[in-house]
Amino acid sequence: SDPSSTGTPPKTTPTTTVTGRPNQTVIKKTANDFIFGKYIGEGSYSTVYLAKDVHTSKEYAIKVCDKQHIIRERKQEYIRREREVMHIMNNVPGFVNLSCTFQDSRNLYFVMTYAKNSDLLPYINRVGSFDLECTCHYAAELVLAVEQMHKRGIVHRDLKPENILLDENMHTLIADFGSAKILTAEKTDLSSSCSTSTEDSPAAASYSNGGTTGNMPPRRRGSFVGTAQYVSPEVLQGKETTKAADLWALGCIIYQMIAGLPPFRGSSDYLIFREIMNLNLVFPEGFDKNAEDLVRKLLKLDPEERIGAQDKDGRYESIRTHPFFEKINWDTIRREKPPRIN
Ligand code: ATP
Repeated sequence: SDPSSTGTPPKTTPTTTVTGRPNQTVIKKTANDFIFGKYIGEGSYSTVYLAKDVHTSKEYAIKVCDKQHIIRERKQEYIRREREVMHIMNNVPGFVNLSCTFQDSRNLYFVMTYAKNSDLLPYINRVGSFDLECTCHYAAELVLAVEQMHKRGIVHRDLKPENILLDENMHTLIADFGSAKILTAEKTDLSSSCSTSTEDSPAAASYSNGGTTGNMPPRRRGSFVGTAQYVSPEVLQGKETTKAADLWALGCIIYQMIAGLPPFRGSSDYLIFREIMNLNLVFPEGFDKNAEDLVRKLLKLDPEERIGAQDKDGRYESIRTHPFFEKINWDTIRREKPPRIN
């Protein structure tokens, strides 16, 4: 998506919804409470605009989803899940905050924190390779965010640099929960498997970037959650997704911050999947040895063997204490000024 281009602001139907409940009147926001500004970008079923609250002048990113499009594309479950997960992660540091939602006859609206500094991908592409301090900082913020999700029983399933947004202070905000999986209460321990999760809907389980060539993934052609480069081997094999799938993606992202490209590459999804299943992992010359050790421990084919997979108490202690993170102060990292990306 191109943040500099302009789009046509959504056509809205001016209504003010007043919900009367005993002893309480809730005035729901409507599109008229916001001035829609520049187009930020679009996803497969939504367009995101910068908008200003007319009463407070506060800026927000508003995701506008065309109802007819959602129904046509059978994305109802995807939207419901995204909203539910955003509610669960609301006000947790490191996550896009959902201020409110509303709808009119045409659209659904998600009013979110505006991540002023876009996402991690353009920074990786611009500098080619983050220095060690930067990689360590952003990897540590990601570890904290993954801990926060996993202890609430959320597996993101589509972690990648494009879904790691950056706020005005260059701290990370995790976004895009359309592919997330919500585990049931008794299975939210970090080391647990996810066998009693809420049902995956076919809509959430379809790979939106199109089908695949060849015979992978075996479960159903073109049917897996996530993005080819970051998808874990167990997901490709059609096995149950566990929290360890996000640990795999974490390994891919740390590799990419240092090497400039994700570890498993290919000219087609099929070729990428083959690289993943063969664990064809090559570290460029000069790749930091501690980082390499951590990435190797995250990118284990067997999810149970990944570093952190056996950790308990809502903390990835074995990842936090890995030598790569020696200089990180885990209590202050989100309050410290992040190192300049270069
Ligand atoms: P898909 O839904 O198909 O997976 P997506 O996640 O990119 O794609 P959207 O969530 O609609 O789709 O986001 C569209 C664009 O808006 C992306 O470029 C994203 O980085 C940007 N964006 C989303 N949320 C915010 C936000 N809170 N602040 C700033 N930019 C955002």
